[in-house]
Amino acid sequence: MEEWRGLVPPLLEWYRDNARTLPWRSDPTPYHVWVSEIMLQQTRVAAVLGYYARFLEALPTVADLAAVDEERLMKLWQGLGYYSRARNLRAAAWQIMEEHGGIFPSDYQSVRALKGVGDYTAGAICSIAFGLPVPAVDGNVLRVMARLTGDGGDITSPAVKRRVTGELAEVIPTAAPGAFNQAMMELGATVCLPNGAPLCDRCPVRDRCAALAQDRVDQLPVKAPKKARRVEERTVWLIFRRGRAALRRRPEKGLLAGLWEFPNELGDTMPAEWGIRAASDSFGGTARHIFTHIEWRLTARVVRAAGEELPPGWVWADGEELRTRYAVPGAFDGVSHVVERELKKGE
Ligand code: SF4
Repeated sequence: MEEWRGLVPPLLEWYRDNARTLPWRSDPTPYHVWVSEIMLQQTRVAAVLGYYARFLEALPTVADLAAVDEERLMKLWQGLGYYSRARNLRAAAWQIMEEHGGIFPSDYQSVRALKGVGDYTAGAICSIAFGLPVPAVDGNVLRVMARLTGDGGDITSPAVKRRVTGELAEVIPTAAPGAFNQAMMELGATVCLPNGAPLCDRCPVRDRCAALAQDRVDQLPVKAPKKARRVEERTVWLIFRRGRAALRRRPEKGLLAGLWEFPNELGDTMPAEWGIRAASDSFGGTARHIFTHIEWRLTARVVRAAGEELPPGWVWADGEELRTRYAVPGAFDGVSHVVERELKKGE
């Protein structure tokens, strides 16, 4: 790594001149960096901006986050996906209140021990908010490093990640660790783009890039192929009665744990045990939602219930309650226009 310690100054200079202005960068308190980094996991910056602003307005401090009730937390997160992130945030806020007297811990081990905080996030918080020289290695950084060093190792493997982390630990400048980590991430996000499309002519470290010198840019990084997604054909029953829709809660564990949803099952037969008598039942359209490992293909059926009875734990929700109270995940966005249209009818 010695030979490319020299990339630090041009990288930092480039970052200073080209960093995007982002709200969590202008006031990088540990809380702000933490919330933004958790939101940014698997999620694009543009999608996070609005959520970040609303979240901080509703819960401006760790103490507020620790005190928020589940329903409100899920509502603040609604549509952002990967909901366990929100629950882990709150669980970590409890840890901070109980184990650290409400003060965000400032050493790596304690930050890493917070619920939902992995190596990358701990590195980001410690370097950006506390100025500690700890690398923060995410997918962007792994891609940049594979190309810069010409490393053909599989970047999804933990061994390669450990190696890259070790290499970066040797060059991270103690005077500006946060800027360095963010510069690496920013380079990956805006210049050293994935899928063989990097903008090398704009790259501040192209003189030191092994992939460019060896004409291997489109071959790096090497990534083991992902497992194919499981496709699930599900029917979602949009059940209405007197201007309200039936909702049920998902199980406390697993996909979309604990969130509210329109009842849905594999196959196309409404389970008899629900005991719902349909006054009418019609096709309501189709929708698709892609999770990391599963793809839902939804067929919606619009059902008018003949009675009020619902299975235990289910609720009737009107339009206002759907907007403000019950967090229904984005997986159902494809049928939400049907729900809105049917609720307006008030039947
Ligand atoms: Fe990435 Fe191209 Fe820069 Fe190399 S020169 S680090 S491939 S953008």
